[in-house]
Amino acid sequence: MKSSSLIKLFVAVILVYSIYSCGNKHVSVRSSAGPDVAYFCPMDTMVNENSSGKCTVCGMNLIKNPNYTGVEISTVVVTSTGDTLAE
Ligand SMILES: [Zn+2]
Repeated sequence: MKSSSLIKLFVAVILVYSIYSCGNKHVSVRSSAGPDVAYFCPMDTMVNENSSGKCTVCGMNLIKNPNYTGVEISTVVVTSTGDTLAE
């Protein structure tokens, strides 16, 4: 009798924990960022980078921000003649 109620308590704790963490994930999902952000992590709102790569928090590939209005410095090459080439 005592062990069965312990199992029920354990299951209830797992259920509450999984619902809570699932809700947490959904709150932080985003598909765009501010115009000054070139790349961002869709899961971590605090991760904003100037170049592509992986999120330092969760390891996901960073997404290119559709709202970004700046120039991507990493893809612009200035030659010795002063011409600017965009890759
Ligand atoms: Zn992340």
